[in-house]
Amino acid sequence: MTQKKGKLLVVGFGPGDFKHITARAVEALKESDLIIGYKTYVDLIQDILTPEQEIIGTGMTEEVARAQEAYKKALEGYTVAVISSGDSGVYGMAGLVYEVLVEKGWTEADGIEVEVVPGISAINSCASLLGAPVMHDSCTISLSDHLTPWNLIEKRIEAAAMADFVIALYNPKSGRRTRQIVEAQRILLEYRSPDTPVGLVKSAYRENQNIVMTNLADMLNHDIGMLTTVVIGNSSSFYYDNKIITPRGYQRKYTLGDEKQPLKPHQRLKKEAEPWALDQETGEASLDYSNKDLMRESEAAPHQSVKVEQQAPKKSALEMASAALAMVTGTAPKKLVQQQMTSIFELAVSPGVANKFFTPQQMTTLAEVVGEKGTMEYTPDHQIILKIPTTDPQAITDKLSAVDFYLEPVGDVLRVKACDFCYGEKTESIPVANELYDKLAGTTLPKELNIGFNGCGMACYKATFEDIGIVYRKGKFDLFIGAKPVGRTGHAGQPVLEGIPADQIIPMVEEIVQEYKANAHPNERLFKYFRRVKEIGGFSFIDMMSKIKVEPAPCGD
Ligand code: SAH
Repeated sequence: MTQKKGKLLVVGFGPGDFKHITARAVEALKESDLIIGYKTYVDLIQDILTPEQEIIGTGMTEEVARAQEAYKKALEGYTVAVISSGDSGVYGMAGLVYEVLVEKGWTEADGIEVEVVPGISAINSCASLLGAPVMHDSCTISLSDHLTPWNLIEKRIEAAAMADFVIALYNPKSGRRTRQIVEAQRILLEYRSPDTPVGLVKSAYRENQNIVMTNLADMLNHDIGMLTTVVIGNSSSFYYDNKIITPRGYQRKYTLGDEKQPLKPHQRLKKEAEPWALDQETGEASLDYSNKDLMRESEAAPHQSVKVEQQAPKKSALEMASAALAMVTGTAPKKLVQQQMTSIFELAVSPGVANKFFTPQQMTTLAEVVGEKGTMEYTPDHQIILKIPTTDPQAITDKLSAVDFYLEPVGDVLRVKACDFCYGEKTESIPVANELYDKLAGTTLPKELNIGFNGCGMACYKATFEDIGIVYRKGKFDLFIGAKPVGRTGHAGQPVLEGIPADQIIPMVEEIVQEYKANAHPNERLFKYFRRVKEIGGFSFIDMMSKIKVEPAPCGD
């Protein structure tokens, strides 16, 4: 009939609704004389077709016949669209069409024109409905063993599970293939926590769309069928507000307290911030960060406020026994028991608020928990900061608490730095220091903030040089605000009020801290905030430094 040269269009039309089909796919369908595809798919795109277009809707099992028919018609001069849902190159018709072309000896140079039109594949459409579960390295695995040996599929599931890929399982289950998804779950559970987030998306962007948020242990208790894609999170994926979110990377540092202390942008690219990265000179990567040692995020930050519902289970007795047996017999366990990532757990310890004495037992415990790979750093803030690579922060805090250490988060938090109260001679104000510690220590703030608390007018622990200074004198308290604790332009705090009664000092300080927390800019230390807003807690700023001229010299100058 037609004189024009035939063309073969292999079109992925996306998940199923018209908003998610590409403009080129619509155009390609419109310019085709013939549409060849599985009947259900043809029905989905029916509305963009015209009555003149011939539709060949064959059954699902006749894929090869469809591809052959398409080629034949294109040779006759027709423009033929072969359609797939999602992307035609993902378990779709594109590969099959090329297989037929190869068989016929087709080449681009002298054969009919072929165009593969990309579409949104199920991994993407389903992910969008679940939140952001894919984000990081991911793979798709089809559980259909019609054309692929099951033992190869098993290997792929195992490899993906082992390598901590986010996984989208296509063709998870059909009327006859019901066992595959059960086996897949079993393999995944050997490497990933039972509470790894799993999303089941049925008929994304189609009628009867259904979304189920579940986890690896529970996923089989929900309906999974031919039209479902199963999205399995990696070891750091988490649930939040009925969404599955996979972070962009693996969090490395944690501290105590309710918020994570993420690295600041300028710290991120430093080598120390990426101890797991491939060394550009030696070509080596740290073994510590291989997945033999992977850790779940929730374990690393037991108190974090982001709701992370999964918790890696502790090793079972059986697992420990098999590991022990493996050590004795010299055979390494074949499989990794748990997917865990070592992170560096940072926290600060001190022997107390007023107490400055460590016990031998505390020092022994410190050495034990820090081990060979951790560090302990003695700081000017009456604390030792610990950095310990671990998969089990809870075990560390348990041991330290058992020997009566005071544990505090590090970073931009509030610290109470009390004096030694002359070793018991000037003890009257210690209860107030303790109460202040209990109420405020560890509060996260825009910038670190130290409260100096000294038990007599000598103020020999230099309370007046801390962000907030409290000095006990003659049964009452004097308050200092806004010291600049470091730098050549450093100075003491402004004495804002003297003779404050015991029952008023803590509420007053709390109010100042809350005001600062609520209103300061990120990274703005208290003295800067006070200087900028000119008033805090009802106290007015006095510029004590304006008469003195000192050239500011930052670190290193
Ligand atoms: N070419 C398609 C995949 C075809 S294989 C694509 O790129 O998306 C068929 C499998 O894809 C189904 O078993 C299901 O797992 C998945 N799938 C396709 N469309 C889907 C949709 N709208 N919602 C959920 N899963 C879908």
